[in-house]
Amino acid sequence: MEKRTLELLRQRLIPEPRIADFRDGAPFVLENGCRVELSFPASGEECRRLFQAFWRTEPEIAAGPVAAVAPEGYDVDITAERLRISVSDPAGLRHALATLRQLAEPERNVLRFRHFLLAPGRISDAPALGFRAVHLCWFPESRVEELERSIRLAAFYKFNAVVIEPWGVFPFASHPEFCWPDRKVDRNEFSRLIGLGRSLGLEMVPQLNLLGHGSASRVCSGKHFFLDAHPELAALQEPDGWAWCLSNPETRRILADLALELHDFFGRPRHFHIGCDEAYNLATCLACRERDPAQLVAGHITFFHDLFAHRSTQCIMWHDMLLEIGDPRWEGCIVGGHDFNHLGELHRSLPHDLLIADWQYGKPHDGEVPWPTTRFFREQGFPVVVCPWLEPEGTLSLGRFAAREKLTGMIATTWHMATEVNLFKIFFFGAQGAWRGDYDDRFPWADNLQQFNRHVRMVNRDAGFSGYQNSGTAVWQLPPESSCVG
Ligand SMILES: [Zn+2]
Repeated sequence: MEKRTLELLRQRLIPEPRIADFRDGAPFVLENGCRVELSFPASGEECRRLFQAFWRTEPEIAAGPVAAVAPEGYDVDITAERLRISVSDPAGLRHALATLRQLAEPERNVLRFRHFLLAPGRISDAPALGFRAVHLCWFPESRVEELERSIRLAAFYKFNAVVIEPWGVFPFASHPEFCWPDRKVDRNEFSRLIGLGRSLGLEMVPQLNLLGHGSASRVCSGKHFFLDAHPELAALQEPDGWAWCLSNPETRRILADLALELHDFFGRPRHFHIGCDEAYNLATCLACRERDPAQLVAGHITFFHDLFAHRSTQCIMWHDMLLEIGDPRWEGCIVGGHDFNHLGELHRSLPHDLLIADWQYGKPHDGEVPWPTTRFFREQGFPVVVCPWLEPEGTLSLGRFAAREKLTGMIATTWHMATEVNLFKIFFFGAQGAWRGDYDDRFPWADNLQQFNRHVRMVNRDAGFSGYQNSGTAVWQLPPESSCVG
């Protein structure tokens, strides 16, 4: 019986804790006056606030025994008489309470329950990786509720950072031309979500693409966020309007203004993401053609690295342009450099405290040495974060690899797929990979998906969402168009 209890309760917790032992027997009742022993007295007020928010309960908090707990980690010991929570920092308390919220269930045999119950047991937990981020895109089409849901889920699943990439929707004060005239997002809405993320313990990291993606639009859409309205600014980019023109000093001046404004607006966090992926048709204009692309790119990236170093801020950059297509070492991996641009040796002349974000969306096959690009950047002396997307096996493999090799962390990417079952794949497997590292994926998907749906209900409720379209993770269950055939 106990084995079944153990497995069922472990499966309820996302990400699964490192050690979790549960017993059958009398539960701890989350009711007013319930005894909570807390090892970190400074967190008493926050603990009280979370009890109120999660279970509408006023606990009796007493000082608990001091235990050695890893940063961001927690130990929880549950008996019928008391709940003992040992943490060493505020993040540990948030993580402990997130786990208990997932574990708690309503009392039975009633119509309307009064109390949540916690099964007796012990949980001991700590993160496998230090930097655990989710990357979110703010498209003109994004619904703010979807972004808020993802931010709340990130905190609930024990990530500690969220990267926000505005796709032409941030209303810059320094240069208002660099925003869709009819798709500006209100600055107050940005502020609200940044403030929300920080209140949940997340570092909110801004992103501005400083190399490619200069249209701030998906390449398949053909859209351009400023050249339609301002064709007179075309010299800032290469003639096709995708990569920024690196030989034009005006480009650097404008991008520096935009980057610093964004960094200020986000409250000067410790990281800034400079993008730099998929820089198609790099250095192709009349002026750039006469220059060495590798030198242009090195000068450009180093300039922004130094700009942010003055603010004690580390730049994050995507890896792909630093590795060349056709190099047999990277077969099966995502890389983006062309050999005629000679970017393959560029990494040597870049500052080695750039945080390289290696996005790899496949999975290793039998007999392969996994993740050669990640290994490469690590061997070159760069800090590296692994970046999965939708492939569960790949995500878990990257998490295992990063934990084993003691890499800096993980950035789970979402792109245009931050809804419905894709949201489950990204958050469920991303959290297991980033927090736990060695998750063995032994439970059926359908069971896990339903646990995820329960957690979505919790964060949707925290957000105060109501109505059909904000329920769950999908706006519609079926396509809204009617197709009355026959
Ligand atoms: Zn140019």
